[in-house]
Amino acid sequence: MDLDDTHRHHLRRCVELAREALEAGDDPFGSVLVGADGSVLAERRNRERTDQPLAHPEIDLAVWAGRHLSPDERAGATVYTSGEHCAMCSAAHGWVGLGPIVYAVSSRRLDQWRREWGAGASPVVTFSVNEVVPDLPVLGPDPELEGEMRELHERAFRRG
Ligand SMILES: [Zn+2]
Repeated sequence: MDLDDTHRHHLRRCVELAREALEAGDDPFGSVLVGADGSVLAERRNRERTDQPLAHPEIDLAVWAGRHLSPDERAGATVYTSGEHCAMCSAAHGWVGLGPIVYAVSSRRLDQWRREWGAGASPVVTFSVNEVVPDLPVLGPDPELEGEMRELHERAFRRG
């Protein structure tokens, strides 16, 4: 599976949501849930500062899917996200039985940037999605969007 225009269209929306999160005072992450027919079912942006620390967009979408979609609908849905799921969100995705994940920036790349900027270690170890959910189809990164996301993350880091 290679990144195509449809993937990039949804990933661009994730970057917009990440920018909205940053401008609202949260860290820049955004995610979109797309059904098997290609329709956008739900969107979330990060609210880990303005709501509560576990308000990552990916776990919010997993909870939404668990409440509103059948098991078949969940299995046929794709989650697009500006940054690869963390271990918590990967586990939620796997438990609720959602379909593929497409991300713009990998978790390890974000860790690498944060080390370059002198950030402290994350309190939670970094795993790839497939280390948590082994058989899930995962696509990323998107080299066209990585630079834009790096800039948003650096702004968030410099802001503190
Ligand atoms: Zn997460």
